Amino acid sequence: MDNEAYNFACRVCGNVQGDLPWGQDGQTPTFEICGCCGVTFGYEDCTVEYVKRSREEWLGKGGQWFNPSEKPANWSLNEQVKSIPKEYI
Ligand SMILES: [Zn+2]
Repeated sequence: MDNEAYNFACRVCGNVQGDLPWGQDGQTPTFEICGCCGVTFGYEDCTVEYVKRSREEWLGKGGQWFNPSEKPANWSLNEQVKSIPKEYI
């Protein structure tokens, strides 16, 4: 996956979003909520530390979907986390 695609992925869980979570410039969060891990772009994902903590909490609860209706039928946690931008792992 190239860098542009990574920018569409949630920094916490790797779920690819319809809109760039942090905008075209990577500085303008949408404040939308990730349907998978439930973080708000611009709050829980604003620093690497916050991202890691949010991911730990999410995985600690079993990696459940915040909005189960968005969960793809063939969803794989292990596949999705590969989309997490490298600088936030
Ligand atoms: Zn997420």
